[in-house]
Amino acid sequence: MGQITRLPQEVYEKIAAGEVIDGPYSVVRELLDNALDAGADEIIVTVNDGGKSLISVRDNGSGMAGEDALLAVGRHTTSKIRTMEDLDTLASMGFRGEALSSICAVSDFTLTTRKVGEGHGTKIVSNPGSPPRSAPAASNPGTTVSVKNLFTTLPARKKFLKSNRAELMKIKAEVVKKAIGFHERGFRYTADERPVLNLKPAQNRAERIDGLFPGTGDDLVLINREEEGFKLDLFLSRRTMPNRSGQYLFVNNRPVVDRSILYTINSPCRGIAPAGRFFFVFMFITIDSALIDVNVHPSKNEIKLQPSSRVNAALHSAVREALSGVKLARVPYKSPDAGSVPGPDLLVPRAVEERSAVYYGESPEFGERAAALETGSGTTAGGIPSVDRLYYRGCFYHTYLLFEEENSILIVDQHAAHERILFENMQASSGDGVLVKRLLVPLNFTPPADRYGEMAENIDAFREAGIEIEPFGDESFNVVTVPAYVPEKREEEIVSLFFDRFYREGVPARAGDLRAFFLETAACRSAVKEGDVLGEEEALSLVDDLFDCNVPHLCPHGRPTFVRYTKAYIEKVFKRR
Ligand code: ADP
Ligand code: MG
Repeated sequence: MGQITRLPQEVYEKIAAGEVIDGPYSVVRELLDNALDAGADEIIVTVNDGGKSLISVRDNGSGMAGEDALLAVGRHTTSKIRTMEDLDTLASMGFRGEALSSICAVSDFTLTTRKVGEGHGTKIVSNPGSPPRSAPAASNPGTTVSVKNLFTTLPARKKFLKSNRAELMKIKAEVVKKAIGFHERGFRYTADERPVLNLKPAQNRAERIDGLFPGTGDDLVLINREEEGFKLDLFLSRRTMPNRSGQYLFVNNRPVVDRSILYTINSPCRGIAPAGRFFFVFMFITIDSALIDVNVHPSKNEIKLQPSSRVNAALHSAVREALSGVKLARVPYKSPDAGSVPGPDLLVPRAVEERSAVYYGESPEFGERAAALETGSGTTAGGIPSVDRLYYRGCFYHTYLLFEEENSILIVDQHAAHERILFENMQASSGDGVLVKRLLVPLNFTPPADRYGEMAENIDAFREAGIEIEPFGDESFNVVTVPAYVPEKREEEIVSLFFDRFYREGVPARAGDLRAFFLETAACRSAVKEGDVLGEEEALSLVDDLFDCNVPHLCPHGRPTFVRYTKAYIEKVFKRR
């Protein structure tokens, strides 16, 4: 007898359903999509027990007529596309026609709906294993879906659900994403009887972002770009998070995850955001739907963008422009005045670090910590004290320069500071195009065997970045030009370090990234080292130059260049106050 049998419909339905619905958050995502597609401008999400016992989404959208409502819970039924070609002009969030049927396969499901303009409503009840039932019912215009006992029929899946808290975080993230994408709609979200979000329809995106992340409103830099076939609306805040969870990307209002776009957005931030921290970024790409392919994954999170190089270039330059706005608005230097001596909790080293972090201008993240830091750190002095009020008090560990100011002491990392200065000078001298110098004797390099092809393919990108390379023999190449700012006699050292890091760190071979990466490498290599001894004059002029920089408080890798402790703080430590 053969080994192969056809799976019963009930089994493969559940398997397929598990792909679309892999947790309470995906039920919320799908029901929100449907409410948005139905044109609702008031959407109410209610969940209990992390969504495990109840998820309900109520909308005031178009509603459905009775016969449609019964069809809607069937497999592969949709009102959103009819042919494959319709995908090219897709304007809705849904199109696969499988969300409701998948939810029905794995939960106790009720949908109550009334089509706008019709006198009566319909109720559909579905339980796993039996066909859905339809009956007339009283209903407001719009649709309410309630999903109970998710995954009772899939015990294995149920076991993998996380704690209620963890599930709630994922659910909230879904609501937040949709709320950012659709600012003109109202959203209410309640978890275990606790109101979590209450967002009225907003006038514009900034208002919605401010509603979700209070306090960002004044802080957002907005850049718009319009090019043939696509449009970018970028909001960037100087506030940072320790991870990318404050970075949102939307393509035609659809929240998407795209690592390469995130890389493009973050690469110009290197050295402007502190190391290991990320600016809040809200990037909206509106693009001709014929140029993208949304049909990649049932969760519709992945999108294929076609003209990626043009879009990437525009993204990169928009972020750069936004960052120059951030620099102009320069992070105010929090200068604790004598009246706000830090409390005793600041005497532990970690807290000292936090205080000084505020002090060199790091932007705190949202939430409680931000509030605590801002109220605890006193007045904003603005600007940076000029150097003639500084006294050089010497160097320690052959690395750190110590200065005394009237009301504080300043510790400068000489290497990091010099790196920042060189980086900005080099950047300024390279201007828009890259000035290059031709090497008298070309430098010959042999890349790792598996990278040779990549080098050969990207000769143009390297040339645009000022590094002209020519294949030499079968496995090596000659470098014939380097950016003009590279100091005399340091060319070989800097170029070889650049290639070493390039192979190791997997920098994309795109002109803009290569250029920034070369600059950073050259600045690092040319800077004074730890252990180099500076005289008083040199030390003072180093700080002078540092404070002339656009981003004085960070080296190009994002590490701090200086920290400052107030006199009041030191007096507190020594119990003089
Ligand atoms: P899709 O959204 O991909 O079309 P679904 O299974 O999510 O597939 O929904 C099937 C159909 O049910 C939709 O195409 C739509 O016509 C209808 N529908 C679902 N939810 C709603 C709603 N909240 N309001 C109005 N119509 C809805
Ligand atoms: Mg849908």
